[in-house]
Amino acid sequence: MAEKAVNGFADDSSSDKSLKKHATGDGATVNGIEKVRNGSPDSFCDIRPSMPLFGMDIGGTLTKLVYFEPANFDEFDLEEKETLQTIHRYLIGNVAYGKSGIRDVHLEMENQTICGRTGKIHFIRFPTSQMLSFIELAKSKNFSGLASGICATGGGAYMFEEIFAKEVLLQLHKYDEMDCLLKGIHYIDRYNPFSECYFFRNPRDTELCKKMPFDFRNPYPYLVVNIGSGVSILAVRSKTDYSRVSGTSLGGGTFLGLCCLLTGCETFEEAIELASQGDSKNIDKLVRDIYGGDYSKFGLAGETVACSFGHMMSKEKRDTSSREDLARATLVTLTNNIGSIARMCAKTEKIERVVFVGNFLRVNEISMKLLAYAMDFWSNGSLKALFLEHEGYFGAMGCLMEYLHLNHPWQQ
Ligand code: ADP
Repeated sequence: MAEKAVNGFADDSSSDKSLKKHATGDGATVNGIEKVRNGSPDSFCDIRPSMPLFGMDIGGTLTKLVYFEPANFDEFDLEEKETLQTIHRYLIGNVAYGKSGIRDVHLEMENQTICGRTGKIHFIRFPTSQMLSFIELAKSKNFSGLASGICATGGGAYMFEEIFAKEVLLQLHKYDEMDCLLKGIHYIDRYNPFSECYFFRNPRDTELCKKMPFDFRNPYPYLVVNIGSGVSILAVRSKTDYSRVSGTSLGGGTFLGLCCLLTGCETFEEAIELASQGDSKNIDKLVRDIYGGDYSKFGLAGETVACSFGHMMSKEKRDTSSREDLARATLVTLTNNIGSIARMCAKTEKIERVVFVGNFLRVNEISMKLLAYAMDFWSNGSLKALFLEHEGYFGAMGCLMEYLHLNHPWQQ
């Protein structure tokens, strides 16, 4: 990432303002859900960890960085304080870093108490392809002068381990990404003063479909469908009992890759924008294109997709299809496939709540509503699709929690 801040980054919050906290105090009530008092996961701490505190999830497409900003720098010695403030000024003084690093301002969590320190948690992301620039930045800010290491998860924690050690003299302390994901989900749901978990009421009715908060305090058992570059599906039965039950390589990376190929778009945002203006019926063959109407014997409405991209075998249809239609069909194909696998897993595992996370859902209400619809429709209302505001940041958050278990020799 280059030093220079890019001005004019617009907050791309997709969060519904109606989900804001409307009472505070010892415990806050968020749309009827009583939240615990902010902060205080002090049970995580034996001694105070060294600063700065970062959790990093280095994924196949995006690197997610969670940064804890202490409210008070006065307790550090002068040299420490200076370095901390340099890092801090850079991270918090900007919302965009170079061309592609972004701080998701709408997600930050204020007034958190971690290991006796109060502060704010910030959420930053950049393409993993920019990792070498990030390493340069860490070097230029004298990061290694302060931190004894960075807790990291995701495949990149292995891939970049050596280069971090060599270039910045920083050890990457590696943690399992599924453990981190679940720890992050539970931490953020518990300590976010706003409502974290939500669902779509009336998912089958486009007019009445509405985002609503969901009380996730007693979550077990539930399925997590993590839609990143690829997809992992976990069955979670308690805080300590979970297993990876399935997955598919057809994930968010597939959507973006295919969309770039088919439409010539360059970014995820562009792909989603195109999809929002397209009509997948011009690309997919529906049941009615084959039957002339419904396939009633099995309850398949004429509107159901019978064959994704089925129209593209006709030259005439190919010639009249638009980039928007192609983007929409790609999005719908990938989303329906993931929904279908998730539904089968939920059935096999006998689990009714399905929590969808991962950055594929960023600024992507089309897929969220489609998943909500699919879960509800194909299960006759017995499955519930749930979503979380911090979409792709749970692994990095869980990683920051690992940093707080201070029995590690490297922390002493
Ligand atoms: P990973 O850990 O595999 O990188 P993420 O949960 O970060 O997974 O999700 C990556 C996916 O998120 C991408 O494949 C793409 O579908 C989507 N995505 C959302 N925002 C972006 C972005 N700014 N750049 C690239 N992909 C993005």
